Amino acid sequence: MRVDCDVVIVGAGPAGLALARSLRDCGLDIVMVERQPLAALTEPRFDGREIALTHGSVAILKALDAWARLPAAEISPLRAARVLNGGSPFALDFDADGEGPLGWLVPNHCIRAALFDAVRGQAGLRILTGVGVVQARTGRAAAEVVLSDGVMLRTRLLVAADSRLSALRDALGIPAEINRLGRSMLVCRVRHPRPHDGIATEWFDHHQTMAMLPLGEGISSAVLTLPSAAIDRLMAMDDAALDRELGARFGRSLGPIEVAGARAAYPLVTSWSRHFAATRAALIGDAAVGMHPVTAHGFNLGLRGQDLLARLVRQAARRGRDPGATPLLRAYEHKHRAACWPLYAGTNLLVRLYTDEAMPARVMRHAGLRLGATLPFVRPGIRRVLMAR
Ligand SMILES: Cc1cc2nc3c(=O)[nH]c(=O)nc-3n(C[C@H](O)[C@H](O)[C@H](O)COP(=O)(O)OP(=O)(O)OC[C@H]3O[C@@H](n4cnc5c(N)ncnc54)[C@H](O)[C@@H]3O)c2cc1C
Repeated sequence: MRVDCDVVIVGAGPAGLALARSLRDCGLDIVMVERQPLAALTEPRFDGREIALTHGSVAILKALDAWARLPAAEISPLRAARVLNGGSPFALDFDADGEGPLGWLVPNHCIRAALFDAVRGQAGLRILTGVGVVQARTGRAAAEVVLSDGVMLRTRLLVAADSRLSALRDALGIPAEINRLGRSMLVCRVRHPRPHDGIATEWFDHHQTMAMLPLGEGISSAVLTLPSAAIDRLMAMDDAALDRELGARFGRSLGPIEVAGARAAYPLVTSWSRHFAATRAALIGDAAVGMHPVTAHGFNLGLRGQDLLARLVRQAARRGRDPGATPLLRAYEHKHRAACWPLYAGTNLLVRLYTDEAMPARVMRHAGLRLGATLPFVRPGIRRVLMAR
């Protein structure tokens, strides 16, 4: 069976869902393909990720009618952030300078559920679940994908939103830089007796990176990055042993911490796609750029990218033009790469500097933190990135 449409979006993760919603009411016939079953979209499970959203991302989620669908109790304001280096007394502190919070923390599964709720029943959108893409090819007239159930989709624009290890990107022959860092991140909610005051803390310590993200009253998300084998060991511990392990690593500034929910581990892989567009195809979300989570920008960039692509596609649709035209895709690629590259490269540099245990790197990061704390443009610059609307 062959289905003809205007746009195919492969992957109903948060980036794909946001794009589908951004393209509402523009008269395009859209098909979204997701390999997970429908239940994974209607009731996504808690996955440990607490996503730090910038002001710009919240504005996009509001425009998509997704923000209002988030449970209020799951939205935690981030009042300030503090970066520490080992035992050094110098800290880099950020706050919003009286302009409201720096950002908000929202669990990833709630964002997915809210976006799915927003696209559900959307006119012109068909969502196919439980099927993956097994073949893809693009040509000047159309792009075609064959699904695992044998259906062929023929479309004017094909969008890959199928994660940082995108199989569609590979099928389209788009090369990508993939870095497997050999480290993993353990995330879990913890309970503690002292207040966090809405302050996120990130420590770059010897052989480990840790963060404590403020959620509800007396609840934070503990984030611990270690070599993958060490994280596997922690994942296998019972709660009492993990309490002791986390307590020893995170210290007692919040009082004794206690595991308060399911834990999850993520092997760290970063990726940078050599192109964000090809003939009749575009890459969005992690399929375009898979950020290291340490600077909390992956989904923020994904939202920004889909917003840019959707604006161009909507404009073309309004004028009766081709939504998969090459100049449109080039414009998307050019602008989105320019927005992503400094953050991608800067984050990777930061990770290298803060995980290198050689003495020059240790001296450099100590100096970097002191400079960051004193140079007049560093903190306002980072604050501007977080608070841009
Ligand atoms: C621990 C952790 C913390 C993070 N914290 C932050 C943060 O604070 N701020 C931030 O901005 N970002 C953060 N991120 C990054 C953020 O989670 C990702 O950028 C975001 O989830 C990417 O969304 P996506 O839709 O591009 O991809 P994904 O969420 O990976 O979704 C891809 C979807 O495509 C589907 N799929 C895959 N292959 C196929 C196929 N062949 N056919 C059909 N469907 C397919 C998958 O089932 C999935 O539903 C964090 C990430 C991690 C791991």
